Amino acid sequence: MKTIGLIGGMSWESSVTYYRTINEHVARRLGGLHSAPCVLWSFDFSEIHRLQHEDRWDEATKRLSDAGVALRDAGADFLVICTNTMHKMADAVQAAAGLPLLHIADSTAERIQAAGLRHVGLLGTRFTMEEDFYRGRLAERHGLEVSIPSAAEREFLHSVIFGELCRGIVTDTSRRRCRAIIDKLTDGGCGGMILGCTELGLLITPGDSPVPLFDTAIIHAEAAAALAVGT
Ligand code: GLU
Repeated sequence: MKTIGLIGGMSWESSVTYYRTINEHVARRLGGLHSAPCVLWSFDFSEIHRLQHEDRWDEATKRLSDAGVALRDAGADFLVICTNTMHKMADAVQAAAGLPLLHIADSTAERIQAAGLRHVGLLGTRFTMEEDFYRGRLAERHGLEVSIPSAAEREFLHSVIFGELCRGIVTDTSRRRCRAIIDKLTDGGCGGMILGCTELGLLITPGDSPVPLFDTAIIHAEAAAALAVGT
């Protein structure tokens, strides 16, 4: 089995999902007492959040690149960045560590294509919904049409992610508003919905959506486990 290098703690709430999903997948595939060989670099998310929101992306890139190098030195065979947003610097991290990196948008796009869908909605942080590093990759590499919520809705989602979900706070009020956003995107023609933030699965489950959900944390973790096991 390959050793997985996890760059996590962004937030730890979703790193828990990764750790559990990866180990469950390996246990299902191999049986017995098998679990996943992995090394985890877990950030103090407060520091990363500050760099993001003060627009200090170069420093954030350096922090994640250093983590990638440390994971390589600790024996990782490939890297997994356990957040959509921080795939903004995926290429730099991969280059610094000199290891393959399993990109969350690629794993997600494969699932969407396997479901026979082409037009999907994207929910996530402002960075993920608005910038090109994520939507651009889905469109250009995978031919997907990606719709995003309105500016006010994007602002709401961003504040729920950092103000609630990354702090382990899950509320019915936020869930109701998210459902309304999903309904609106579905009415606009989206046949599926990307939970493009690794904490959104804590708030939104299949019963909250009229169309299939693509939970990036689960999809990415399962893809990592499959790569480690070789199946
Ligand atoms: N985990 C989230 C994501 O998937 C947000 C936290 C972050 O900014 O890394 O984008």
